[in-house]
Amino acid sequence: MAGKTGKALTIGVLALQGGVEEHVAILESLGAHVTRVRLPRDLDGLDGIVFPGGESSTIDRLARAFELAQPLRDAIRAGLPVLATCAGLIYSARELENPAPGQQSLGVLDVVVRRNGFGNQRFSEERTVPVRLDEEDLAVEASFIRAPVVTSHGAGVEVIATVPERDGTPVVVGVREDNVIALSFHPEENGDDRIHARWLAGLSV
Ligand code: GLN
Repeated sequence: MAGKTGKALTIGVLALQGGVEEHVAILESLGAHVTRVRLPRDLDGLDGIVFPGGESSTIDRLARAFELAQPLRDAIRAGLPVLATCAGLIYSARELENPAPGQQSLGVLDVVVRRNGFGNQRFSEERTVPVRLDEEDLAVEASFIRAPVVTSHGAGVEVIATVPERDGTPVVVGVREDNVIALSFHPEENGDDRIHARWLAGLSV
């Protein structure tokens, strides 16, 4: 995937913990140059960054230990595009309803998130979820693994995906605010590269 100048896009994957390699594989297969981000200097020259799923409290703890959290927050507030999945959504949020002891989040997305919002799913659940990235919805085969839900959001946040609860109430599982897109499920688990492809295409224009 080529950027504005015709050069390959350089995309970081936050590589502190979690499902890093699935995202690296998809991004590389789409032609991006991928950097694993662990230290502040790894943020140099990125066109975008992916936050993988995993354990958000561990990602938070390591990011602070490596003094990455503040430079990362600054880069995103300055416009670095983010695609976050699952624990990545939790890590991006302004507020967590049920943080682990001492857990912090970056506060780059104006949402309140409940971790394990569907209960403690022992097994992953697959659902087809319509996701609105451009004008049309993409039907994504999504894996929900101890997935978070967005319980409230600010006026600047667009809801791009919901799933119906058992009683039919829509539960918010995908949002976008300016340069941050966050999904509570894993599109990458099923080898579906369309979300990444659309996201990269949006960075190239
Ligand atoms: N529940 C996990 C957390 O709090 C997220 C699960 C996931 O990323 N699959 O980080």
